[in-house]
Amino acid sequence: MSKRQFKAESKKLLDLMINSIYTNKEIFLRELISNANDAIDKLYYESLTNKKLKVDKSKLEIKIDIDKEKRLLTIEDNGIGMNEQELSDNLGTIAKSGSLAFKQALEKKDNINIIGQFGVGFYSSFMVADKIIVESKRQEEKQGYKWVSKGIDGYEVTPCDKESNGTKIILHIKENNKDENYDEFLEEFKVQSLIKKYSDYVAYPIKMNCIDEQTKKKKKTDPINSMIPLWKKNKKKIKDDEYNNFYQEKFFDYTKPLKVIHTSAEGLVSYDALMFIPSNPPYDFYTKEYKKGLELYSNGVLIMEKCEDLLPDYLNFVKGVVDSPDLSLNISREMLQQTKQLKVIAKNIEKKILKELKDMLENDTLKYEEFFKTFGVNIKYGVYDNYGAKKDDLKDLIIFYSSKQKKNVTLKQYVNNMNKDDDTIYYACGETIDKIDMLPQVEALKDKGKEILYLTDYVDEFVLKMLDKYDDKKFVNVSSNDFDLSSEEEKNSLKQKNESSKEMFDFMKKQLGDEVSNIRYTNKLKKHPICLTSEGNITVEMQKVINAMPTDEHIDAKLVLEINESHDIAKKLKYLYENDKETLKKYTKILYNEARLIEGLAVTNPTELSNLVCELLSK
Ligand code: ADP
Repeated sequence: MSKRQFKAESKKLLDLMINSIYTNKEIFLRELISNANDAIDKLYYESLTNKKLKVDKSKLEIKIDIDKEKRLLTIEDNGIGMNEQELSDNLGTIAKSGSLAFKQALEKKDNINIIGQFGVGFYSSFMVADKIIVESKRQEEKQGYKWVSKGIDGYEVTPCDKESNGTKIILHIKENNKDENYDEFLEEFKVQSLIKKYSDYVAYPIKMNCIDEQTKKKKKTDPINSMIPLWKKNKKKIKDDEYNNFYQEKFFDYTKPLKVIHTSAEGLVSYDALMFIPSNPPYDFYTKEYKKGLELYSNGVLIMEKCEDLLPDYLNFVKGVVDSPDLSLNISREMLQQTKQLKVIAKNIEKKILKELKDMLENDTLKYEEFFKTFGVNIKYGVYDNYGAKKDDLKDLIIFYSSKQKKNVTLKQYVNNMNKDDDTIYYACGETIDKIDMLPQVEALKDKGKEILYLTDYVDEFVLKMLDKYDDKKFVNVSSNDFDLSSEEEKNSLKQKNESSKEMFDFMKKQLGDEVSNIRYTNKLKKHPICLTSEGNITVEMQKVINAMPTDEHIDAKLVLEINESHDIAKKLKYLYENDKETLKKYTKILYNEARLIEGLAVTNPTELSNLVCELLSK
């Protein structure tokens, strides 16, 4: 049998493992035990539908054996097992090697994070072993096979004699060197405590072959693990570390969760749920492959790894498990969707998560801001998803930066801060807080003592449009035409000025073709000469967002070029209209493009603009 080569990514990973300086090498054991647990789960699950497969649940177990002299640590399960092909497929490639994020991390050589973040599974054994033998026999097959590798050179798969079904993994533990102690992985006590630490909740008994003090012979111990899933344990007796370890191991995250939500219900439908809000987006969160969902168990036995129906789309970042004795085990996916119990659980869970977020917002604002920075866009998406079906539940979970308080505020806080007779919530959109702060319209409004919300996320304005009103107060974009704070008198005077300059504006508009729907004077701007606003339902920000989307959809806001009536430029334009129309044409183009730049829109013809400016500069 010739040697087979590892796939390219696997090779890189192996190299990384063999030469690892990762301090947490002990995690290899929980990875192997977790694989063993999964293999037994798979067998049990298969036996529910495959009547030929006879499984005695009471005999399912994981066995650990240590041979100090030969430096062997063995982990054996009686689960589903692997055949020749599977041994090669599963152990010759990294399971998650298809993931782009993983490949990128490998390229970045961010070694420590790879090990922690991706739960590199089986290969992590190469951190402590210089040779690994995997003997396996697949359920319902006669022949067993052996996979042997010393690491980077490749591996061999050959037939072997194996009586029992399942998988036996034999690690030849490395010799100690001056920096590293590997002997500890051959100490019974150490191995037992690692199992306790990382794998206590594993649902099948983990037993160890230990030397009996009296007979000096090996004897199987009682289960080392308590086998009580963490979610079924008494909340008060669980330490933070236990939650964190559980989360990090199960959901391949190297950071602790931001929030743990442990809840249970009894009554019409009973269930335990243990959920986590990650600190960072899951590594594949922004890929097509990412799927939302919670693990679903029935009385501690896994029914489904990702039950999508348990989470609404906007909470797709939540990780966790749900265990309910009311669900039958061999239920099909289609039927599951329709079960009433599942719907009830999903509804309760959503409520619970929102309640926890609200508590966090009120009692631990800093943490909430951290949450919102990462997943705020999800909450916003929840507001406008489904035509706003959830907007009332979510509107108080949204925060925006406030011009006045110089920090994030809720809509409720904004409204509480308003004068009694005010009926408007002002907002302005832009790329960053600083850029918005410099918008001419914003400056003028701040001068009047108004509070303005700064919207920097591309979805923000859609969110406010969907909410329509908050507490009967309407939302007004300071860059839109609905925004006018002037008195009746001021309004009239402005109107007259605009009417008497109509011919000039028509002339100017002609120079810009279809680009603007209107040009007029404004009294909104303080010291700035011009700004660009919009008429109608589509604002400049919305135009930017929709046109940037990878669809054929294209919209144009109705742009209005507004000129500060009290700025010197207004006088100059009037003069040019009366005396030098050719120059006015050039001024018009320059002013319009300047206004586009201020709004964060691209200039349509930069060369023309630059030539015009230079021409005027050199006069
Ligand atoms: P992961 O467990 O994250 O998929 P691993 O590298 O740990 O990645 O394992 C790769 C695959 O090998 C598993 O998905 C599983 O199909 C198979 N495997 C590993 N250990 C066992 C085992 N003890 N019994 C059966 N199959 C196993």
